[in-house]
Amino acid sequence: MTADVHPTGGYPTWSEVREVGPRDGLQNEDPITVEERIELIDALSATGLRAIEVGSFVRADAIPAMARTDEVLAGITRVEGVRYRALVPNLRGADAAIDAGADEIEVVLSVSATHNGKNLKMTVDDSVAQIGAIVERAAEAGTPVEAILATSFGCPYEGRIEPDAVLAVAEQLRDRGVGTFSFADTTGMATPPTITALLDVLDAGGWAPDSVALHLHNTRGTGLANLLVAAQRGVARFDASVGGLGGCPFAPGATGNVPTEDVVHLLDSLGMATGVDIDSLIDVALDLEKVIGRTLPGQVMRAGPWYRLPRG
Ligand code: ZN
Repeated sequence: MTADVHPTGGYPTWSEVREVGPRDGLQNEDPITVEERIELIDALSATGLRAIEVGSFVRADAIPAMARTDEVLAGITRVEGVRYRALVPNLRGADAAIDAGADEIEVVLSVSATHNGKNLKMTVDDSVAQIGAIVERAAEAGTPVEAILATSFGCPYEGRIEPDAVLAVAEQLRDRGVGTFSFADTTGMATPPTITALLDVLDAGGWAPDSVALHLHNTRGTGLANLLVAAQRGVARFDASVGGLGGCPFAPGATGNVPTEDVVHLLDSLGMATGVDIDSLIDVALDLEKVIGRTLPGQVMRAGPWYRLPRG
């Protein structure tokens, strides 16, 4: 797919919203049942979303909410055209994800050495080497691998992360055969200028905007502003979680991906076709609140899309 940019230098006319609620969101909640996870994913599959992160293959004692992801994958009703993705921490996890039928594998490392050490108990170089091994294993199975570069805009331990450091890690991963990349604002520290600064460096390094995906958290309320400046630069792939569910268990105080309904609503308004039915998505978010038993931070799920006038 290539970025089809308006002649005025505006926005791409396409987008891909990748739902991460069933993994990035739920991993921070009290565990819900396998059946509830399957129902959530099936409901999301029916909204028009084309990529859904279904869970991760980590040790159950490390993240109890992600236990039995193999059963989740076995239980969902697959919709044609939807890619069901799973996060894996190592080769064993990759094997499990492939055996369970994941369409795509996601691997994560942190650009910040301190965050990588605390989160993954590895040096960045060791993480790069391990990801290389996962790419080789996945290639044998014909399964694509995407790398998530955590703390690409800031680290709760190290502060600002320089774009050159992000580019250096991304290039190492590309050399190891990683196909697609997601630059993650793991703890919601990005602002429009830091988004622009990274895109400038990636541009200069020969990375086209349509090879870039952004994983934004709304921890400090800058999520949609960050998305907007990236979209102006031609970025069209964005992670989001239904209702704004989630956070990061390894980043103290970090809460919430950008809410999927809010992202879809904004992208639709920009003419960046999402293929997602906003009303179905809002229903999923409202139902999810009942399952997890708390109010979610999404805003369009409360107000509805702007063009829907209040009744009365
Ligand atoms: Zn995240």
